[in-house]
Amino acid sequence: MAIAFPGKQIVVVEKNPLPGQETSRLNSNVIHSGLHESSGSLKERLARHGSRLIVEYALNNGLEINKTGMIIAVPWKSAFADPIGKYEAATLLRQNAKRQKINVEFLNWRNIKKYEPNIKAMCGVFIPNVWIVDAESLVAKMHSDAVCKNVDFYFDNAVVGIDPKSGVYEVSTPSLKIQAGAVVNAAGLYADKVAAMAGLNYQTEFWRGEYYEVSASKAGLIRRLVYPVISSGSPSKGIHFSPRLSGRLFIGPNARLVLSRSDYNEDKTSVNMFHEAASQFCPQIKLEDLGWAYSGIRPKVKNWQSNSDFSIKLDIGDPPFLNLIGIESPGLTASMAIAEYVEELLGPRL
Ligand SMILES: Cc1cc2nc3c(=O)[nH]c(=O)nc-3n(C[C@H](O)[C@H](O)[C@H](O)COP(=O)(O)OP(=O)(O)OC[C@H]3O[C@@H](n4cnc5c(N)ncnc54)[C@H](O)[C@@H]3O)c2cc1C
Repeated sequence: MAIAFPGKQIVVVEKNPLPGQETSRLNSNVIHSGLHESSGSLKERLARHGSRLIVEYALNNGLEINKTGMIIAVPWKSAFADPIGKYEAATLLRQNAKRQKINVEFLNWRNIKKYEPNIKAMCGVFIPNVWIVDAESLVAKMHSDAVCKNVDFYFDNAVVGIDPKSGVYEVSTPSLKIQAGAVVNAAGLYADKVAAMAGLNYQTEFWRGEYYEVSASKAGLIRRLVYPVISSGSPSKGIHFSPRLSGRLFIGPNARLVLSRSDYNEDKTSVNMFHEAASQFCPQIKLEDLGWAYSGIRPKVKNWQSNSDFSIKLDIGDPPFLNLIGIESPGLTASMAIAEYVEELLGPRL
């Protein structure tokens, strides 16, 4: 925004003491290809473009990033239990890859072993253009770049009120009042509440995604991202092997509809589900190898008809008020493309 609108004063009001303390830190750190997303959705378009932008940004700025690639595989057990469902899911992936011109390689059980010797699966696809980053370093770099571009950050300031006042919005926190010519609401899990302060009604729901960590002695068993094939309409991409730049290995996230948007640890899902998800692909991983790690929460736009998409809309034109609602996965991947899209929507109004 600071680059797109030179000369405009940009202010970020953040309730936490540091940037990126919520969902942007509590995720899988994957820069996705867009293959999982529904055809024609904003998620698909912004993930594809965003992936290019993030990879370029990381490489140009010396941030650590690793092109692990992603295997999406059909475990033997589920292939026998639901052969038609798995066939349909694999076919959909293949169609998506073709339509989106994403380079994928089809794998039989032997080829899977070439990539990941410890994975047992009937078949799958390998998507080379998938990366892992360290989300915290990425956010920290974006923050320092924004500071260099004279963006003002007000931390420890929760927005509690937004009132239109003679051509501007008065944005209030307990200790500040800011007169804003335009507002971009990117409040993540609280974006519906911030929108409501301006009289806009959004219905969101919250899906917790939990992770367990594989013990250090087994973390080297899997080097790439390994996801299960899932049926369309699933609320997540499935419990996967999530290796990190640090060499640690996590299993997760599941997708649990929860009432609280801030409750990360209460009523944890039992390790058994994660062990089952891991051991169906890699029997060397035993129950005692898994320990609770962390969880993140996805805000989803309520949509009973179809898969929920990002909702990015200029809801009020004058003065401009733009809402980003339901920015769940692949929001990290899409982040820089989302910023460009916001600039596109706001540009004519500023
Ligand atoms: C389990 C899980 C796994 C995921 N894995 C991936 C992945 O591998 N790859 C990927 O691309 N995406 C992934 N995502 C999605 C991605 O993490 C999010 O889409 C992205 O981080 C959302 O960023 P955000 O800036 O919208 O929200 P946040 O990072 O939550 O930022 C919103 C900010 O707004 C602040 N805020 C809220 N209310 C107020 C207020 N009233 N006043 C002031 N400040 C306020 C918050 O403190 C917060 O800092 C995952 C998400 C989850 C939950």
